[in-house]
Amino acid sequence: MSYIYYLILFLFGLSVGSFLNVVALRYQPSRSVFDPRSLSGRSNCPYCRAKLEWFELIPIISFLIQKGKCRRCGHRLSFQYPVVELLSGLIFIAVPFYFHRFYGVLNLFSFDSSLHSFYGFLVVWVLVFIVWLLISIIDSRHYLIPNELNVSLGILGVIIVLIKSFPSSWLLPFHNTFLRHYELLFSPFQNVIANHLLGALLGALFFGILIVVSRGRAMGLGDVKLALASGLVLGWPDIGLATLLAFIFGGAWGVILLLTKKKTMRDKIPFAPIFILGVVVTVFFGFGIVNGYFSLFNI
Ligand SMILES: [Zn+2]
Repeated sequence: MSYIYYLILFLFGLSVGSFLNVVALRYQPSRSVFDPRSLSGRSNCPYCRAKLEWFELIPIISFLIQKGKCRRCGHRLSFQYPVVELLSGLIFIAVPFYFHRFYGVLNLFSFDSSLHSFYGFLVVWVLVFIVWLLISIIDSRHYLIPNELNVSLGILGVIIVLIKSFPSSWLLPFHNTFLRHYELLFSPFQNVIANHLLGALLGALFFGILIVVSRGRAMGLGDVKLALASGLVLGWPDIGLATLLAFIFGGAWGVILLLTKKKTMRDKIPFAPIFILGVVVTVFFGFGIVNGYFSLFNI
């Protein structure tokens, strides 16, 4: 029966995705992300300004029925809309599904009192992914990361560390980071708080050095704050693997853009979406990647 819960979560995630599109589309660097002046008022077409009817605002479905075009002016609409809605829907099912398996929670939807802290943990993690998604969209559009989103991510990181510091029936040894027992190999501390602080420090330090070396051309201070907050959320060595993956993805992406002549060496590419892709792959596949790598050498 759990699929009904997942279906409800997915549909709720789709509508959250719709809201994220509005937030990202109406964001202006001079204003706060959640400025009521930006968020009030009905949705309209960004090209002809016509107000949208309710049936034009159904996540994904409306985009498919209208073949990705505005009903009135026929202007092609950005693929950002259905992609963000779909990603948001996926976040709402992937986080509970993967996390309950990772932490060995047998019956996720039992609503047993021993799982209350786990539900709180899931909510915080869904919010983390939503903030990462919002940062990715805004950075792709504006090449900047709003400070308040990095601060929100940092606060969520502190809450994650606090939840993990208290003994819970679902939190077992080797659950400290997503790399499980590989933490022992790379981290000097097996203490939750020390480990996450180290993740934040090394994440920020690495990109801070890159800024100094490149004299600010490679990335900005917002990117360093993103690495700091994400390092706090992930801990060490997870943030190290995420950074390594981000460089591999960024290199591959850069080569593709150069080969297809979409960009030249002088163009900027947004840092946040690529870094966050590295982070997300680390959360879901980090253990498998490191395990596979070591098994190549029969370790
Ligand atoms: Zn239009």
